[in-house]
Amino acid sequence: MVNWQGIVIHHSASPRGFWYGQRWRPVDVELIRSWHIYERGWSDIGYHYVVLPDGQVQGGRPLDRIGAHARAGKRNLTAIGICLIGNFQYDSVSPPQLMGTMQLVKKLQKEYDIPVEKVELHKEIPGSNTLCPGRFFPKKAFYEYLNSG
Ligand SMILES: [Zn+2]
Repeated sequence: MVNWQGIVIHHSASPRGFWYGQRWRPVDVELIRSWHIYERGWSDIGYHYVVLPDGQVQGGRPLDRIGAHARAGKRNLTAIGICLIGNFQYDSVSPPQLMGTMQLVKKLQKEYDIPVEKVELHKEIPGSNTLCPGRFFPKKAFYEYLNSG
């Protein structure tokens, strides 16, 4: 088992879905898994959880394996990776997606005894070079929720 000590928040930096002719394909855990396996050559999706725009949480890489989501500060070795579908450099996080994320984070904090100081946005990890999870990620509301009872 991995000794989880932190959580890193990401966005997919993608649209919420794609039209294939008449068919709408939402971006979800299976689509990201296929990108990571077939385009990056990884063994599995790099994130442990994906949170959809409607707030639904999908399980990604099992928690008995380290992820591939944040090399900076070697967070891959110690932190659980959560990815919100969307590109929050341009779009806002929907209320249900934010709530689903915050509830998931709180649950994981309890389960693995992770203090709020170890819940990080990808771009705020020292040494990272990314905009992830985007300038419109509601950092203030997110941490206020985590700090509330
Ligand atoms: Zn990221």
